[in-house]
Amino acid sequence: MFDAHAHLQDSRLKQDLHSVLARGIAAEVTGICCCATSPSDWKAVQELEASHSSAKLVILPAYGVHPWYVEELYSDWLELLDYYLDLSLVAPIGEIGLDGIRKSVPRELQKRVLSIQLEMAVRLQRPVILHGARAWGELADIVKPFAGRLPSIIVHGFSGSSDIMRRFVSMGAYISFAGSVCNTAASKVRGAATLVPDGQLLIETDTPDLFPAGGAPAAMDEKNRPLNQPSNLKLICNEVADLRHVSSDVIADITASNARMAFLGAGSNLK
Ligand SMILES: [Zn+2]
Repeated sequence: MFDAHAHLQDSRLKQDLHSVLARGIAAEVTGICCCATSPSDWKAVQELEASHSSAKLVILPAYGVHPWYVEELYSDWLELLDYYLDLSLVAPIGEIGLDGIRKSVPRELQKRVLSIQLEMAVRLQRPVILHGARAWGELADIVKPFAGRLPSIIVHGFSGSSDIMRRFVSMGAYISFAGSVCNTAASKVRGAATLVPDGQLLIETDTPDLFPAGGAPAAMDEKNRPLNQPSNLKLICNEVADLRHVSSDVIADITASNARMAFLGAGSNLK
């Protein structure tokens, strides 16, 4: 299985990282896309890839500015992003996007930083990893003109409607589902998970967040809430398989091969 979205660099996991990765390998996770969120964690993501990627577990770094952190940028952030992307010629640009949860972050600034990163992805021909919580429609509007010019688009932690999902699918985007599909009350996202075409489906944990119902915690945070980990990807895989009336092995196989295409394109041998 390939975990299409995780934040292994998150400081809440630091003490347990070795065991978190070992449990992921034991649960048959063979690849993880480790997404940065702001210039302050790009170095940690790069070091994590360098020190923890192995033959058993590929860690693919992604570098970008998450919409929550657009107000913290210094003037040299684009040069720094260029520097980190240059260190890994396959690194996608992510996690980027629009967010409607933290309303205090100015929407115009979010859009400006997103557009700059989309332009950069076109110029460097890198995949993009999109966050669109409570802003899915507006995000689709912004991304549409870029769609034909990007090597791939990964819509992470999808929680929008089936209509919005179809808009992204028609752009050729991959739609990635996280632990929210395991919540039986989340009928909208569960409905969308049944409708994504096989060739555009991905699964993810969003470690250490979005802890799935029935999962095993990596650890507890300071407020005694469970932290998510890649080994819980099996639960998401099983749930998506049940919703689509196929076996879990089928979902594990198609999402791993889609991740290979989405992140690395044809000809890659990422398992
Ligand atoms: Zn994320």
